[in-house]
Amino acid sequence: MEELKGKIAVVTGAASGIGLASTEAMIAAGAKVVLVDRDERALASVCERLGDLAIPLVVDLLDPEQCAALLEGILAKVEHLDIFHANAGTYIGGDLVDANLDAIDRMLNLNVNVVIKNVRTVAPHMIGRGTGDIIVTSSVAGHSVIPWEPVYSPSKWAMTSFVQAMRRQLLKSGVRVGSVSPGPVISALLADWPEENLRKAKEAGALIEPKEVADAIIFMLTRPRNVTIRDVVVLPSAFDI
Ligand code: NAD
Repeated sequence: MEELKGKIAVVTGAASGIGLASTEAMIAAGAKVVLVDRDERALASVCERLGDLAIPLVVDLLDPEQCAALLEGILAKVEHLDIFHANAGTYIGGDLVDANLDAIDRMLNLNVNVVIKNVRTVAPHMIGRGTGDIIVTSSVAGHSVIPWEPVYSPSKWAMTSFVQAMRRQLLKSGVRVGSVSPGPVISALLADWPEENLRKAKEAGALIEPKEVADAIIFMLTRPRNVTIRDVVVLPSAFDI
């Protein structure tokens, strides 16, 4: 049961949705987890509920200084890092011409630039230890062209290609790199879905729980070290893509 016992993980965007489910699953598997999120109140209440293996670290990843200091903040709380789940992300959908320019910038920054910078920050630590696991939350939108997601979808395509490049760059270092690509997951993020699409998806049963994604992550992390799962796509069976 406790396949991650003794491991130390960091999950970004851990106070809600997929990041929270990933954190809960890793703790259930015996890992200690540093939960990174900008939502201080949510983080505090989640960590109180999860107990000693959950360590909060309040960081706004869109703040360049806080983002740059991420590893320093982590190593002030734990002695090293075995697993990094780059999960924090946001969403905008709908017609491109209606999209708010600041929202576009924030989304591309968080979904793409921050993940790349976070991995650049933590990778040398893992390379130095000769072992580690990096998992990025991508999306089925990073594998399919979704017309109502003209900005979100490219941000996740970027992650799909980033993960493949990094997997090969770190091939000989002992650090595994993979991604998990969910279809629509019931979380706060879907509040930004166009109302019509959300209604249709709910009616069609085309939504899954965050736990399904977390189970895929645990599967990836618990393979023998000579096996890397490059990407797991987790879809509601009724999802029409
Ligand atoms: P969510 O909104 O439930 O959780 C996102 C978390 O990230 C929140 O706790 C939020 O406070 C945190 N966060 C946001 N901006 C931050 C910042 N600047 N700094 C630090 N923390 C920040 O969303 P979710 O559905 O769990 O999404 C998590 C990831 O999963 C995202 O990368 C998203 O693109 C991806 N994803 C979601 C779905 C879905 O349908 N929900 C599907 C595929 C992929």
